[in-house]
Amino acid sequence: MTGDEAYAGSRSFDRMAESVRDVMGYELVIPTHQGRGAEHLFFQNFVQPGDIIPMNMYFTTTRAHLELAGGEFRDIICDEAHDTSSDFRWKGNVDLRKLDLLVQQYGSEHVRAVSIAPDVNMAGGQPFSMHNLRELRAYCNGHDIRVFLDVTRIAENAWFIKHNEDGYAGWSIRDIIREICANSDGAWMSSKKDGLVNMGGFLAFQPWEEELFARCRSQVVVYEGLHTYGGMSGRDMESLAVGLHEVCDDDYLSCRHSQLELLHGMLSRAGVPLVNPCGGHGVFLDARAFLPHVDQDHYPAQMLAAQIYLQCGVRTMERGNVSSGRDPQTGRNRRPKLELVRLAIPRRVYTESHLEYTAEGIIEVYERRHSIHGLEMTWEPDILRFFQARFQPHPDTTPAVEHEMHLSVPPKHYW
Ligand SMILES: *Cc1c(COP(=O)(O)O)cnc(C)c1O
Repeated sequence: MTGDEAYAGSRSFDRMAESVRDVMGYELVIPTHQGRGAEHLFFQNFVQPGDIIPMNMYFTTTRAHLELAGGEFRDIICDEAHDTSSDFRWKGNVDLRKLDLLVQQYGSEHVRAVSIAPDVNMAGGQPFSMHNLRELRAYCNGHDIRVFLDVTRIAENAWFIKHNEDGYAGWSIRDIIREICANSDGAWMSSKKDGLVNMGGFLAFQPWEEELFARCRSQVVVYEGLHTYGGMSGRDMESLAVGLHEVCDDDYLSCRHSQLELLHGMLSRAGVPLVNPCGGHGVFLDARAFLPHVDQDHYPAQMLAAQIYLQCGVRTMERGNVSSGRDPQTGRNRRPKLELVRLAIPRRVYTESHLEYTAEGIIEVYERRHSIHGLEMTWEPDILRFFQARFQPHPDTTPAVEHEMHLSVPPKHYW
């Protein structure tokens, strides 16, 4: 209700930028319509063709914007992150030896920055430790490499640090968030997640990144909107100003985490293969172990997501071979080690009964897993294919009768 919809100089932008400064400590703030808008500005203005940007695993839109800007992604996440059976608490950590090898190979003139995400989505919502981030920062300072964060899920990562890492139990979530950000040069955020709002994002920098900030800000008007709203409405900026403070509430975060543990526990007790330990924003099914008879190029996680939807109407998300896309050099599917289905839990939406219903549906799918076959892709976009690709039951592996039955359902066209 108090959103200031002024085209120029919206007071809601001032309040939003003030919240970013209070909670994260970044001085320089550029609003964008959502996270990928911030990624676009950042990578277009930072990356030079041939740059290598190491990350703790990857996020789909982040890697796409890096590659569109002529850079290349390298994974420096620790090995445990790729192993669904490992119980290691800090699977979001980077392996400094992997980073050091890249620096030796390409030199720090090509490895000019690393990009680190808290609560790593593609690894199953796994956090990094403050200790690991500090070590990374020290290494990067010694090699003139900048550290940029994707702070989309920073509060959930901070919660893990407070409750699991030695020495942080007495810290507030906000102080932990500030400490994480203090170990970086800048960040981008999709506020749809830990901003607790429906829409928005931002790009933010430390004061010493004034020049990069100015370049990005001069382009926000080309792609997003004036630099005092960047594609967000006044009410969205006003909500974000509040959301960034509310997300620092340890009771809220603990309550959210207990919902995740509840769902994880129900599925785990029924023997459904999962990513362990339970992540910070969702429960992740291990589709490789769920459907071991389906080859990865027949998209087991995509099929599992479809089967869950048919079974109980719960919409989940493939995070495996489809999301990972094709290797630009070979044109082949990347076949990542992790073939997952994500059950992301929306913030402040569900009750325990919703989660019980979801678990029951998935357990029913698990009981009939042997009769589930693979998929083939019938239409594939060039970039970020997982958003719009289409599939049908794979004709080679699906029994003929069943295949006919599936195909007799008329395809739905949504656009
Ligand atoms: C959602 C997300 C993005 C992209 O943000 P949008 O707001 O969806 O454009 C980037 N990084 C991470 C880690 C995300 O979860």
